[in-house]
Amino acid sequence: MTRCYIGLGSNLADPVGQLRSALDAMAQIARTRLAECSPFYTSAPVGPGEQPDYVNAVAELETDLGAEALLDALQAIENAHGRERTVRWGARTLDLDVLLFGNQTLATERLEVPHPRIPERNFVLVPLADLAPDLVMPDGTPLRDLLEQCPANRLHRL
Ligand code: ATP
Ligand code: CA
Ligand code: CA
Repeated sequence: MTRCYIGLGSNLADPVGQLRSALDAMAQIARTRLAECSPFYTSAPVGPGEQPDYVNAVAELETDLGAEALLDALQAIENAHGRERTVRWGARTLDLDVLLFGNQTLATERLEVPHPRIPERNFVLVPLADLAPDLVMPDGTPLRDLLEQCPANRLHRL
């Protein structure tokens, strides 16, 4: 089993409901166990133009799937939640990112792990630290160090 962390985000069509429903769907992924989810947070949008605030969380999964098969399952869940891919970083009903996949470092056309923008995102780092405060990144960097260095964007626990 590989322990992995998934970042959840939504800022359209009842974001809290989207995240709850996504957690239910992730619990149904084959050969995968949903271990835990962080508290939910609201965060300021970072993308282009005017957008509603986001609701974010991080979930811990244990899986026997490979990383790309897990990404397939997560993208199917996004699609089932009405995700449309139009503007990059635009508003969305559901975004599921593979933040970490065990201690692996991957860079394929479809999948970069660890997710490259973890260090600049407190809406990822804070809920990740709720689940795994002592986590060390595959390159040896403690999560605590990333948290200390991350820009303090608006973030509130729900
Ligand atoms: P960001 O990656 O900055 O969080 P985003 O989540 O809005 O942006 P998407 O439009 O959801 O980006 O995804 C674009 C592509 O990123 C996906 O089609 C997927 O193949 C690729 N991708 C690369 N690495 C990952 C990863 N670790 N988790 C999820 N998707 C990834
Ligand atoms: Ca994302
Ligand atoms: Ca994504």
